Amino acid sequence: MTTKSVFVKYSAKWLLLFTVLVAAPLVLALIGHQHENRGFWIEFGVGLGFVGLAMMGLQFVLTARYSKIGAPFGIDELLQFHGQAGYFAWGFIMAHFIILFLADSQFWEFLDPRVNLPRALALAGVIVAVTALIATTYWREKFGIIYEWWRASHGLLALFVVFVGTVHILQVSHYVSETWQQIVWVTLSLAAIGMLVHNRVWRPMQMKKRPWKVVSVTEEVDTIWSIELEPESHSGIDFKAGQFVWITLGDTPFKLQQHPFTISSAPSKKNIRLTIKALGDFTSEIKNLETGTTAFVEGPYGNFTLDASVKTHNVFINGGIGITPTMSILQDLKSNNDQRQTTVIFGTPSLELTPFYDELKELSNEINLNVVHVLEEAPDDWDGETGFITGEIMKRHLPDISNCEFFICGPPPMMDVAEATLREWGVPVYRVHSERFNIV
Ligand SMILES: Cc1cc2nc3c(=O)[nH]c(=O)nc-3n(C[C@H](O)[C@H](O)[C@H](O)COP(=O)(O)OP(=O)(O)OC[C@H]3O[C@@H](n4cnc5c(N)ncnc54)[C@H](O)[C@@H]3O)c2cc1C
Repeated sequence: MTTKSVFVKYSAKWLLLFTVLVAAPLVLALIGHQHENRGFWIEFGVGLGFVGLAMMGLQFVLTARYSKIGAPFGIDELLQFHGQAGYFAWGFIMAHFIILFLADSQFWEFLDPRVNLPRALALAGVIVAVTALIATTYWREKFGIIYEWWRASHGLLALFVVFVGTVHILQVSHYVSETWQQIVWVTLSLAAIGMLVHNRVWRPMQMKKRPWKVVSVTEEVDTIWSIELEPESHSGIDFKAGQFVWITLGDTPFKLQQHPFTISSAPSKKNIRLTIKALGDFTSEIKNLETGTTAFVEGPYGNFTLDASVKTHNVFINGGIGITPTMSILQDLKSNNDQRQTTVIFGTPSLELTPFYDELKELSNEINLNVVHVLEEAPDDWDGETGFITGEIMKRHLPDISNCEFFICGPPPMMDVAEATLREWGVPVYRVHSERFNIV
């Protein structure tokens, strides 16, 4: 099957399934005995509540890191979709409250502590929780919330919303009066909670059985370090070049600190190399990591990978640390003596801050590879490209794009320019693969 048909088939299939699942509670509500008609706005408001809660439940599926669900979008795109869906879920849940309060003042009773204190607290808590979910995501850095605390609170707040939402539906019982309907709601809510437990408890338990050890820590350039991990008494992982893993460092995998990094070595090697740029609290400590430190690896994930069966001209447009998946892919081409045409357009601040300069040079002698370095600040004797990666630079080195497959990974402004240029050139979306390192 071609890349195009796989993309179209899966995108359409998953989007349709998502829509069906979001709308399913409405169908579920309508099956069963006849309900009194309470007027359009009340029924509409109730319907939005069902849809909003279903969307919240599905958020657990989207973030559960099941690679089959991620195919063929890539986990970063899936997480971006999760972010967009989150805004809709918030909108539906808030609209549920607002429409019902406006449609009939009797609904204010639900928030009246004098009528039912636990119910009023729980429902007010849901309004606060869904709003906090959105606000702490959008303004996390502004509020100064550490990523790990944000991630932990995000899961707990969502869990609270789904739990209270389900209890609320069962208590109101208007459309869920039959036992089988109640069983379905409870089962779906438990499934959502189960996914969170699977992700945060079961997976670390499995990882604990397969520890890794840091065997080397090497400076590539200033602020960029590579670490090599060796599997301890197990066979390691099977991955495709270009994929990433989540790692935890230290004695236990049950930690809030779990970070995604792309493997920058070839799949043919048992040890894996991760190349990490110092950015925040976790990555800035990589240089101080001692060999022998235990690591836990979850994955592999992602589909920023080459299609082995399609012999296209593969073009990698990378900036800075975004080179890591490309390094794995190039090393893999070398391992397989795959001589398909490959171009890397690589933007970096300067020659001194270009990771893998020598490794890329060696690779270009061994495979059919042309590397175009684009330096923001170049030495006086530099006769290559300078400045930032632009459409003109891309055009200069890619005179014929008819058979090209593009792989873009780097800082967001660089990715935006590259993606916009390819759109302008009319390159079909299924020939453009992007991986963003800033998923939230
Ligand atoms: C698919 C993918 C592959 C990546 N591959 C690489 C790589 O090969 N090399 C590399 O240097 N970096 C890579 N990153 C980025 C790397 O994960 C972050 O730079 C790192 O987690 C930052 O952690 P910090 O605590 O040092 O920085 P912080 O200052 O805490 O965070 C900086 C930013 O990194 C992101 N981030 C922080 N913690 C996490 C986390 N636990 N999970 C997800 N994102 C987080 C957030 O967007 C945050 O705003 C990748 C990211 C993704 C999503």
